[in-house]
Amino acid sequence: MSRLDSFIRRMEAQRSCLNWAAAQVEGLPGPVLELGLGNGRTYDHLRELLPGRAIHVFERRVACHPDCVPPPGRLFLGEVAETLPQAAAALGRTAALIHTDLGTGDRTVNEALASAMAPALAALLTAGGVCVANHELAVEGWTPQPPPDDVPLGRYFLYRAG
Ligand code: SAM
Repeated sequence: MSRLDSFIRRMEAQRSCLNWAAAQVEGLPGPVLELGLGNGRTYDHLRELLPGRAIHVFERRVACHPDCVPPPGRLFLGEVAETLPQAAAALGRTAALIHTDLGTGDRTVNEALASAMAPALAALLTAGGVCVANHELAVEGWTPQPPPDDVPLGRYFLYRAG
């Protein structure tokens, strides 16, 4: 498979998982957390899927498309190891949906990041809320969910908080 085909498949899988997550939280109040603004593509998609929902963005350095700069008060700027605990203190266990798109291709880095984030993620995602992650997470009280039919196992990781 060409790198282009592989990229397209990854983006299609990401979109399917975000669509799944948005449908899951339709009747569940609470903000959305977007970890990793990047270019702003998935942030923009979440805005479209869940109009009117507060979306809090976590990013170490904003370099997105100008249309995707989060409004004042909705950006946690810095390293997630520091900003997620701040968000947990400010928002409490209120988030309906968390999307984390921070992972790298390096398994060791992803595992270290996942364990650093786990306590704050548990403190943020409300009961019944869902998380879409581009790397595996082990968060107390979260149950892995099967991916949508068009997403291969192990490409994205979905969880629901108990
Ligand atoms: N979801 C984005 C999109 O659709 O355009 C792409 C996100 S990009 C793959 C990952 C982003 O996460 C980068 O912009 C990077 O700066 C940010 N990031 C990675 N590790 C981070 C960390 N530990 N704390 C804060 N931001 C981080």
